[in-house]
Amino acid sequence: MSERGYKMSIALKFEGYHRPANVDQAVKILTKYGNNAQVIAGGTDILPRRPGGNNAGNGKHLVDIVHMGLDYIREEKNGIYIAAAATINSIGAFPLFSQTPYLALSEALACHSTRTIRNRATIGGNLCNASPCADLALPLLVLGARLIVAGPEGNRQIPIQDFYVGTNLCALDSNEMLLEICIPFCEEKTGTSFLKLGRQQTVIDMALVNVATFLTMEGQCCVTVRIALGSVGPVPFRAKKAESMLTGKRPDKKTIQLAAEAAAEASAPLDDIRATAAYRKKMAVILVRQALENSVRRYQA
Ligand SMILES: Cc1cc2nc3c(=O)[nH]c(=O)nc-3n(C[C@H](O)[C@H](O)[C@H](O)COP(=O)(O)OP(=O)(O)OC[C@H]3O[C@@H](n4cnc5c(N)ncnc54)[C@H](O)[C@@H]3O)c2cc1C
Repeated sequence: MSERGYKMSIALKFEGYHRPANVDQAVKILTKYGNNAQVIAGGTDILPRRPGGNNAGNGKHLVDIVHMGLDYIREEKNGIYIAAAATINSIGAFPLFSQTPYLALSEALACHSTRTIRNRATIGGNLCNASPCADLALPLLVLGARLIVAGPEGNRQIPIQDFYVGTNLCALDSNEMLLEICIPFCEEKTGTSFLKLGRQQTVIDMALVNVATFLTMEGQCCVTVRIALGSVGPVPFRAKKAESMLTGKRPDKKTIQLAAEAAAEASAPLDDIRATAAYRKKMAVILVRQALENSVRRYQA
């Protein structure tokens, strides 16, 4: 037992384990068992739990999706499609994501856990776990991603800003699974940034505050501004009022500061064992300001 009174363990007692060959089969199993079934991908959220704690997978039929070919990343006419079971490391190695417009995504991927975990953890698991501090939710929010979901009636699309409906609650029905994520192509000069504050400042640390920003300009003024915050409310969210404070304006020091303060004002963090709400709010101002400054610098480079 560690000093904090618990240790991580793999203590899953599941009702059934299913390994469908394709999406149709997976959806059929999810439909058959309803709330008593759960998709498992990398298992890095589902498997490690505190003994006696609330284990999401306990007593359920697990539907393993990692052998269904859902690990591709490909460019199509209207954007980049990332399959739900693509691992964090494989996405990080996709060359396009090291280009300026997608730096918020590559920075979030690099901040996620450790190299070993990133070899198993998937983008779909990160989104569907619906944690308020999920690192990948933020770049995808500012990049305007759409989620393609498979269910018994076929596929449907959900804009990522509509995906989170509550803490650890996403918009998927019990008979649906996330299939792929589509990121629209960005204008070449788009400046984006992701920043994360952890408690111990080590790589293996969930965020106390994480933010992503997206910015395009015409001349000296901002045209499109997007700001997303995580870990400071029940779900990751866009700070729309703060975005509008910069739109059409010069991104000078004062305007950026005011927008950063408005973004933090829109947050509703909790006091918990890791940090106080007041500290998170203060740090949200600093992180949003720095991320916006990065975005401006990257746009102008
Ligand atoms: C030591 C450690 C460090 C971590 N560090 C970070 C970190 O820095 N940042 C961070 O954001 N996260 C972190 N995590 C959390 C976790 O690794 C990520 O959320 C990971 O991306 C989850 O992916 P997975 O494939 O392992 O998900 P799983 O555990 O397989 O699934 C997670 C949830 O998503 C659901 N799910 C998975 N795929 C689908 C799908 N296609 N359709 C429908 N539902 C689906 C599952 O049913 C489950 O509810 C960490 C975890 C550990 C153990």
